[in-house]
Amino acid sequence: MNLVALAQLILLVLRNLNLKPRKHRPEEIAFALAAYVMGVQVTKLKIPPSTLYYYIKKLGIKRRKDARPRCPSCNSDRVVRNGSSRGKSKYRCKVCGRTFYGTASHRMSREQRERILKEYTNRMSLRGISKVEGRPLTTVYSLVKRAGLKAYVNLLILQAQLKAFRAKFAVLDESWTYVHVRRGPRRQNLWIWNALVDGVPFFVTGDRDYNTFRFLWSSLPKCEVHYTDAYSIYQVLDHHVVGKKYTHTAESYNSFCRSHLARLARDTKAVNRSRGMTDYSLALLNVMNPHVFSDEETPLNLAYLRGVQHIREHLI
Ligand SMILES: [Zn+2]
Repeated sequence: MNLVALAQLILLVLRNLNLKPRKHRPEEIAFALAAYVMGVQVTKLKIPPSTLYYYIKKLGIKRRKDARPRCPSCNSDRVVRNGSSRGKSKYRCKVCGRTFYGTASHRMSREQRERILKEYTNRMSLRGISKVEGRPLTTVYSLVKRAGLKAYVNLLILQAQLKAFRAKFAVLDESWTYVHVRRGPRRQNLWIWNALVDGVPFFVTGDRDYNTFRFLWSSLPKCEVHYTDAYSIYQVLDHHVVGKKYTHTAESYNSFCRSHLARLARDTKAVNRSRGMTDYSLALLNVMNPHVFSDEETPLNLAYLRGVQHIREHLI
C-alpha cells in the first residue's frame, strides 16, 4: 500500500470516529500517521509526538516492526537501529553496546568450516570450494591458510618431540612441483622432500640441493637403515641402501599428496602461488588424514598418531 492511499484510509477512519483535532488539520494528522506506520521516524514528522501517539492509541494501529537481527556478540535481541552506511542498516546492541550491520555475516558455522577443510584435502581447489560453498574466495583462502598454519606449527612441535625416538627404517624421496609467480619468471621449481620414518611422514619444501635435504635430515629421528634412490645427495647418509625397490612407499606418499591436493595434481589450473601455502597445505593434509604409511606398529608411529589426533581435534 502506498503512502497516499494509506493516508486517505486513515482520514476516513478519523472522520468516522468523529475525532476533531483542534490544532492540526485532519489531513495533516492522517498523513503523519500513515508516514509513521510506514516506518518514518517520529521526529521527522511535523506533528508533535504526543499528539501522534494520542491518535495512534485512539485508532489502535501498530507500526510494523521489521525483523531485527540478534547481536553477534551476546545474541541479545535488544538491538536498535543505529543509522546506516553504504545503504546497509546498522544496529546497536543495548546490552553490550556493539554496533553491527544487519546483513548476514561471512562467519561460517563449524560444520561448514569442517567441510571446507575436508574438501580442500580431497583435491578441490580453493576456487571450486568458494563456488560450491557460496563463500567469497578470500574467506575460504583465509580459513584454509589459518588452519594450515596451525597444523604446520603443531606438526613442527610434534616432530621435535618425536626426535627422541629410535626408528627402524626411513625411506627418503623428493618430488617436483612449481610455484607460479605473478611477476618475474613464470615458474619456479619447488621440490618437496619427504621422508617416511617407520611410516611417519616428514616433509620439507625448497630447492633440490643439499641445504634443503640437510634441513629434512636434521628433523628426523635416528634410524637404523635409510632407503633412497640413487640421487647423489643421499650419499652422506649412514646405513644407506640405494634402490628403487625400497622407495615405493615414499613414492606412494607422493601420489597420496598429489591426489589429495589440487595444487599438486598434474594437468590442472590450480597452482601453487607461494611456498608457504604449499607447506601449510601439506601439513593440513597430514593432520586431516592422520595416517602412517607402514603396516608395522612401532613406538614412533604410535606416538605420531596420538599427537596428530590431538592436533586434529583442536584444529577448528
Ligand atoms: Zn550485544
